[in-house]
Parts: sequence; structure tokens; C-alpha cells
Amino acid sequence: MFGDVKTDFGPPYFRDLLHPVIKNNYGKWKYHEVVRPGVIKRVAESGDVIYVVRFGTPRLLSIYTVRELCDIADKYSDGYLRWTSRNNVEFFVTDESKIDDLIKEVQERVGFPCGGTWDASKGEYGLSNIVHTQGWIHCHTPAIDASGIVKAVMDELYEYFVDHKLPALCRISLACCANMCGAVHASDIAIVGIHRTPPIPNDDAIRKTCEIPSTVAACPTGALKPDMKNKTIKVDVEKCMYCGNCYTMCPGMPLFDPENDGAAIMVGGKLSEARRMPELSKLWFHGCQTNHQDGPPL
Ligand code: SF4
Ligand code: SF4
Repeated sequence: MFGDVKTDFGPPYFRDLLHPVIKNNYGKWKYHEVVRPGVIKRVAESGDVIYVVRFGTPRLLSIYTVRELCDIADKYSDGYLRWTSRNNVEFFVTDESKIDDLIKEVQERVGFPCGGTWDASKGEYGLSNIVHTQGWIHCHTPAIDASGIVKAVMDELYEYFVDHKLPALCRISLACCANMCGAVHASDIAIVGIHRTPPIPNDDAIRKTCEIPSTVAACPTGALKPDMKNKTIKVDVEKCMYCGNCYTMCPGMPLFDPENDGAAIMVGGKLSEARRMPELSKLWFHGCQTNHQDGPPL
């Protein structure tokens, strides 16, 4: 009875959204090759061929940009496109002669570069986009912004995105606090926002807006104790690891510190090496200041 009813609960079934050539040849691919940076040729056992053309995006897109991309997908990609987990957008082209026009049109209309691929079979590696977290645009606990830093880093590394110039696979990620939504611990190079001071309870705000037991229970290190006599919360600063969980539960526990918050850079996670087990990152540098004198926008 409800089979055809469309709702916005949960994601749609993914196979309904596949390009017809991918749907028809699902699981039956003969080989693929990267014919040039940003363009992957996939050949199916049936003989079907499809070209995946990849572009870097800034991840946070206006609805106007998304509409431009959808228009381009209608023109070149039979109305299909997809975003990768590293914030690249991909189009699907069945006519090889249209690839150059597609790349030109994407660059003219939205300014996104074609690239982000690698071909291990040829020993050619490019840099994919940086996966990153919400930053000040959305989340409440960031120690640093996300998109601005990613833009600055990718501006420096642009030549590695649009070409295969790296000697090995390299993945870069950014997380704006130690909760590390971006799985940065498993990237080759990681930028992590670090708070360096414990929360300072605002007794008045705690009394007005917070549930004390659930806030105390949210601390993973047991650094919080209820002070029921004064209807507030006390922090054992020796036990605090500055994770910000208590601020998630209670806006009366802010831990932003414009003077001391900053970024750490970690390297060596997910070693791309066949002869040893994957490893998590090691700290390389700690203490980049982000100079947000007024603190993040709350
Ligand atoms: S890493 Fe931290 S601040 Fe960034 S989105 Fe995740 S929880 Fe929020
Ligand atoms: S910042 Fe994290 S470790 Fe520190 S008191 Fe809050 S929840 Fe506990």
C-alpha cells in the first residue's frame, strides 16, 4: 500500500540513483584505467564504457552552485552526478568526445578543477580533495574553522590535485576538534583543532539551561561533579581532556579560548604500505595559532 509513497525519511535506495550504464553492469567490470588526471575510464564485461570525470569542490556549496552542477549533469551526464566522500563531484560521460567540453564548462560556470585521481598500476599518484568537518559554519565545539583552512592548504597543493606528480598515495583530512568526525586519525596528514583549556562553568547559564545529571554523565573522563547545593557543576581540571562533550550537553560549559586554541598536525596514519599493518597518526606539530581574536561565532 505504501510502496510508492515518497518520503524524506532516510536515504533513497542507492541503486535507483545509479547511472544506467553503472546499474546495468553493476559488479561486472572488466577493468578501469585513469586516462588522464581526473578522468577514469571504466570498461564492463558487456563492452559498455563509461568515463567518470572528477572535479574538486569546496564541500560547502550554495544552492545556486548545486543547480549549476545539475544543469551541467543534464547536458553531459544524462542527469546523473555524485559526490565522493572527499568532496569531489563526479560526472558520467559515455561519449569520450564530450569530456573536454564538460571540463571547460565546469571551469567556466563554477570554477572547479578537474583532477583528484591516481593510478597505482602505473605508479602515478595525484592528491584527492581534503575531507573535512563542519567548522564554525555548523558545529558548536570547533577549536578552528574547517573550510577556510582547507581552502588555504589546497591552494598550496593545487598542482598535485590537477596532475599525477606525487610519489605515493597521500590523503589529507581536517577535523576542527578532537572529536575528529573526519576520521583524521587514519589519514596520511591530518590537521586537528585542539582546545587547550577546560570549560569554565557559567553557573547562571547552567541553572537556566542545563540538565545537570546528563551533562555530568557526558564527560568521558569523569572530570565533572554535580554541585546540587548550588545547582551547578564543578570541573576537575586535572582530569579534563578538553573534548567539549559537556558543552554539547550544556551551553553553560564553554571552553573556547581565543588565546590558546589552535591546530595540531599529525602524520603517518593509514600507512599506504603492503608490508606492515596500518598505523594511526603521530603528532608532528602542535600549536598553530588561528588568530581568531574574538573567538568563534557562537
Ligand atoms: S570535529 Fe568536532 S567541531 Fe568539528 S564537526 Fe566534528 S564535533 Fe564538531
Ligand atoms: S571538556 Fe570533555 S573532558 Fe573536559 S570536562 Fe568537558 S566533557 Fe569532561
